[in-house]
Amino acid sequence: MKTILFNLTDAQLEQYITDMGQPKFRARQIREWLNRGAPDFSVMGNIPDALRTQLDACAQTLPVRIIRRLVSSDGETTKFLLELSDGEQIECVLMRTTYGNSVCVSSQAGCAMGCKFCASTLLGLRRNLTSNEIFAQILVAQWELRSDRLSDKPIRPNGDANNGDVSHIVIMGTGEPLQNTENVIDFIERANHDMGIGWRRITVSTCGIVPGIERLIQWGRPINLAISLHAPTDELRSTIMPINNKYKIAQVMEAAWRFTDLLNRQLMIEYILLGRKDENGETVLYNATPQHADLLSDMLRGKNCMVNLIPWNAVDERQFASPSGNAVHRFQDMLIKNGIHTRIRRERGTDIGSACGQLRLNNARNRGGDTN
Ligand code: SAH
Repeated sequence: MKTILFNLTDAQLEQYITDMGQPKFRARQIREWLNRGAPDFSVMGNIPDALRTQLDACAQTLPVRIIRRLVSSDGETTKFLLELSDGEQIECVLMRTTYGNSVCVSSQAGCAMGCKFCASTLLGLRRNLTSNEIFAQILVAQWELRSDRLSDKPIRPNGDANNGDVSHIVIMGTGEPLQNTENVIDFIERANHDMGIGWRRITVSTCGIVPGIERLIQWGRPINLAISLHAPTDELRSTIMPINNKYKIAQVMEAAWRFTDLLNRQLMIEYILLGRKDENGETVLYNATPQHADLLSDMLRGKNCMVNLIPWNAVDERQFASPSGNAVHRFQDMLIKNGIHTRIRRERGTDIGSACGQLRLNNARNRGGDTN
């Protein structure tokens, strides 16, 4: 197996390079390339050809290798299918926005949570990612942004706040971050320390693992916490999210409010709008009736939170239907009338299967815009 240079400490890298009969300073040069996300040795312009060829035979740069790259039709979203050193595959998504460049990273290969509406869990959990494997996803995005700049591709949309670097991280790719909490925490510490990404620009999204939220409280960094709620009652939530049999809504919310109160943060609530076909083939709402809006409002009224409404994105194997735009707006209006802050999440990259819940292993549906 090839040595992954990114996984070596500075001292180990130096040893590796001097063992090849090279001067020490080459190790520092290579480290700089690694920290910029160099996907292979061919891009390392200040390294002699012979050494690059030699390295290529026995080593690779990052612990992830890009096997496919898909670009949405508007050019703003890029999805990467990445291979880990043991052959597992994960995905990460780069979103270029007016407020900056946001990267959605995976925390696990596959997922054990079994949510009934999501593609990421269809094949179960493969394994936790290491902190390096999570970090490398940011580097892949950073390198892509560098390529944008070198090719003079305009950063779209060309917002003032967008300086061309990764500025925001959401841990909302495949996997449940709070089932891999220590590696996720280590990753966030490094993203903050090594890449200067502010705590407030980093979001951890969880289906509601209470001990994991307790750990975030103890850790005490003012990151954003998002709870994937999706239903206002335990009865309904248990039908779509098996984790609800272990941690009930009241328990999850109690821990979540303690986190946001302590760190003075606004709690993000994720709420998918799920439809179902009735016997006439009409789409009826499963979790977004007026009664559900009232129950949700009772739970959130007066609290510092924002409800992100996410129209369900189609997943072939799942028996739900996407709600109409009107139905989504009606549900939002009911919440607003009850004084609840809410917004509808703009879906990015639906055409390349990179919208929420569409990330999956071995994505046979990857299509269109393939530039790799
Ligand atoms: N396991 C974590 C993070 C990954 S999911 C969590 O549950 O929060 C990121 C978000 O996408 C979650 O809110 C998830 O419930 C939502 N999601 C999953 N499948 C979806 C789908 N098909 N359409 C829209 N959103 C979906």
